[in-house]
Amino acid sequence: MDNYTIADNFSLLGKLLDIHGDNGFKAKSYASAAFTIEKLPVQLSELKPADIFVIKGIGNTIGTKIIEQLETGKMEALDEILSKTPPGIIEMLSIKGIGPKKISTIWKELEIETLGELLYACSENRLTLYKGFGEKTQQNIKESIEFYMGNLGSYLYQQIEPFAADITEKMKGEWKENVFLLTGEFRRQMEVIEKLEWVTTCSPSSLETFFTSNGFEIKTDEIGYISFKGKEKNITLGFYCCDEKNVSNKLFATSCSEEFLLAWKKKTKWDETKPFSSEEDIFSAGNCSFIPAYEREKAEVISRPPSSQPIQPGDIAGIIHSHSKWSDGVNSIDEMAKAAIEQGLQYLVISDHSKTAFYANGLNEERLKAQHAQIDELNAKLAPFRIFKSIESDILNDGSLDYSNDVLAGFDIVIASIHSNLKMPEEKAMMRLMNAISNPYTSILGHMTGRLLLSRAGYPVDHEKIINACAAHNVVIELNAHPRRLDIDWRWISKAIEKNVLISIDPDAHSIDGYADCRYGVLVAQKAGLTKEKNLSSFSLQQFEAFVATQKSKRK
Ligand SMILES: [Zn+2]
Ligand SMILES: [Zn+2]
Repeated sequence: MDNYTIADNFSLLGKLLDIHGDNGFKAKSYASAAFTIEKLPVQLSELKPADIFVIKGIGNTIGTKIIEQLETGKMEALDEILSKTPPGIIEMLSIKGIGPKKISTIWKELEIETLGELLYACSENRLTLYKGFGEKTQQNIKESIEFYMGNLGSYLYQQIEPFAADITEKMKGEWKENVFLLTGEFRRQMEVIEKLEWVTTCSPSSLETFFTSNGFEIKTDEIGYISFKGKEKNITLGFYCCDEKNVSNKLFATSCSEEFLLAWKKKTKWDETKPFSSEEDIFSAGNCSFIPAYEREKAEVISRPPSSQPIQPGDIAGIIHSHSKWSDGVNSIDEMAKAAIEQGLQYLVISDHSKTAFYANGLNEERLKAQHAQIDELNAKLAPFRIFKSIESDILNDGSLDYSNDVLAGFDIVIASIHSNLKMPEEKAMMRLMNAISNPYTSILGHMTGRLLLSRAGYPVDHEKIINACAAHNVVIELNAHPRRLDIDWRWISKAIEKNVLISIDPDAHSIDGYADCRYGVLVAQKAGLTKEKNLSSFSLQQFEAFVATQKSKRK
């Protein structure tokens, strides 16, 4: 074992003690031991034990631990504290801008244990509520995490979208004569992207020369397919190379899920060797109405009767689920309403956090009164635009909502969400959710599983049971459109539609900029064939008012 490894171990031990809030003095002595060892002119492994103890700055405790490492290759004190530290907390040490003290606050006070959760907390503007975290620190942390995660190879659709567009443009500029058509996961609008792929008429050798001279490495090189991996963005770029007459076939085949393609081949006896001039022609030759790439997932889609037009980004008529300055949002209600009007929206549902959400500056009864008075005032000024009074009520541990019925009666609609004690078995999660759904004051079930894509799996739930309960109690299921949530998972939306449960594509906006997230909700909803008629946030103001009235009648 060399001095660097030993020094690193001491340094890590010191940091972990600090994170755990153990003995500040011990932590300091390990940190300074690490510093001393790194600077030593001789390797500790070449010294006799007696000579180690007399080195300046190394006393008995450190000396014993050095010998332990030299003899066993391990340090028990470090192993022990590592076993008591969640892996995500250890990972935070590699993020620039957060030292052990801050990590300790993040872990112990914000109860955040993974980088993904921390990133989400930054986007919810939650860090600034804590001592030592200014807006600038929060922004720095956010950028460092994004950089770090970007290097791991998987991206949210929203994270990789600008890069995909940019690189497509660059290639079109480089090869003006050739086609470059995005295909694969990206064209299917998957929520998480592991590789970007194109169908192209460009030759593999030409691509190879270009990418290798731009610092990329070849990852696979097969007949008709070549892929590269770059340093700047750790994502695979793959190319299906074919001649012009086969472009449509290639595009079709690479824009289907495996399941869909297999079923398609079986059903239509598709002859891949016969060139088609467009994807539409492939569908009509297969006696099937056109199915967009984003819907080519399950085999059953092929035999489904042609559905009406799936929802489009322009079909969002109002912002449901938004947070203002009253809780943890960035903008005032006034600013949020004006932005919504500018964007041609008809209404805004303000649903700040409820009183138990102290970490998000949740509203107590008194502040609610003041907020409602402000909304009344704004509504008088801004009509026909309308702001609805709502709350994102925490679903408490026993499944009850966060206020008395008297207070709940003051809201136009109530969004019920779980924010605390997310680590729970299915039984507990279902008890909380089912109690919340059957509560007559609940109108919308917020982010159903609490998942954060690429960072937190979410608590386990029985989707079918939840959907049935929502149908029975006339509760809408939110499709939280934050690109890191996209929760309910789109794979369950068709089940909800079948049971006549409305979906609501909600941005969960913590600022005006957050409104734009609706689009990511729409992109995954399209995969499930959701139509605007089945999406609450596509309701016109008049329809939405009728919806509010029905919800209020549930409470009697
Ligand atoms: Zn929430
Ligand atoms: Zn929210």
